Amino acid sequence: MTNLSGQMNMISFHSRTLLARSLGILLLAHPLRAADAPSGTPGGWDSAQAKGKHVLYFTKSSGYEHSVVKRPAGGGLSFSEQILTDLGKEHGFGVTCTKDGTVFTPENLVQYDVIVFYTSGLLTEAGTDKTPPMTLAGKTALLNAIQGGKGFVGIHAASDSFHHQPDPPDRSARYVAYGDDIDPYLGMLGAEFIKHGAQQRARIIVTDPQFPGCAPLQDSFALFEEWYTFKDFRPDLHVILAQDTQGMKGVDYQRAPYPDTWARRNGRGRVFYTAMGHREDVWTNPLFQRLLLGGLGWAAGNLEADVTPNIVKVTPGYRQIQPPEEPKKKP
Ligand SMILES: [Zn+2]
Repeated sequence: MTNLSGQMNMISFHSRTLLARSLGILLLAHPLRAADAPSGTPGGWDSAQAKGKHVLYFTKSSGYEHSVVKRPAGGGLSFSEQILTDLGKEHGFGVTCTKDGTVFTPENLVQYDVIVFYTSGLLTEAGTDKTPPMTLAGKTALLNAIQGGKGFVGIHAASDSFHHQPDPPDRSARYVAYGDDIDPYLGMLGAEFIKHGAQQRARIIVTDPQFPGCAPLQDSFALFEEWYTFKDFRPDLHVILAQDTQGMKGVDYQRAPYPDTWARRNGRGRVFYTAMGHREDVWTNPLFQRLLLGGLGWAAGNLEADVTPNIVKVTPGYRQIQPPEEPKKKP
């Protein structure tokens, strides 16, 4: 493992990946610093076709409210809203931040190119943050807009929203695969969040280094983060990053490597999701920001990328679900 920088929690790189090992390929170590990242903005944000594009960033928390989406008591933007707004200013796209679930009408959605969710819980209920909920018609309007060609980017807890109902507090329903009976929002997104274990440093395998924003990540990297687990992955996912579960601590990661970041087509729309983004120091990491710019730019249609489904090939054990509890130790 080679350190990317001396800073805490920065991404570091490995000379070989699980995937590379399985393919019998030995890759040379590439010590890399953020300064070595290719020049230019990922996601085609510097191009003529990106001009005037607008992003809607929706951060309603009906369930758990993350620190990066919580607005300060005195007013102003949350940590992640400020970063996304600043990225827009720097790279020439507009960002509208809202927690108001009533914005999802066909008329209102027309003005946005990409809709970004960092949400939680049942968004048709006022829930934890008490901001106005989405209506069922609003949810339908959102899904129709994406089907019709809008871009959608889900970050972290976007997959912890609209769980299959009922979703009892003991989380027993989380360990059941519902297949095509998945909630239509999660079907659009590509998978449903189950649970996460303790934050830890873990290795992420880059399964598509060609995807916009991924070049500096090379073949794999390690990061300290809160790592999500999932079920009901859609079989048409194009996996960009995969969780290497080998050596991870906790029952939640007792499963085969599975997708962490992916893209998929949804009708005429483009959907990008990354499970990362819990921690403030992930949001400020330039490599996370480049990944986000790449996903946003592809979702906005600034550029093309090959998103041929590859989930079976790169994460063949993706259907595995971890055991609900720590197995009892045998005497
Ligand atoms: Zn989290």
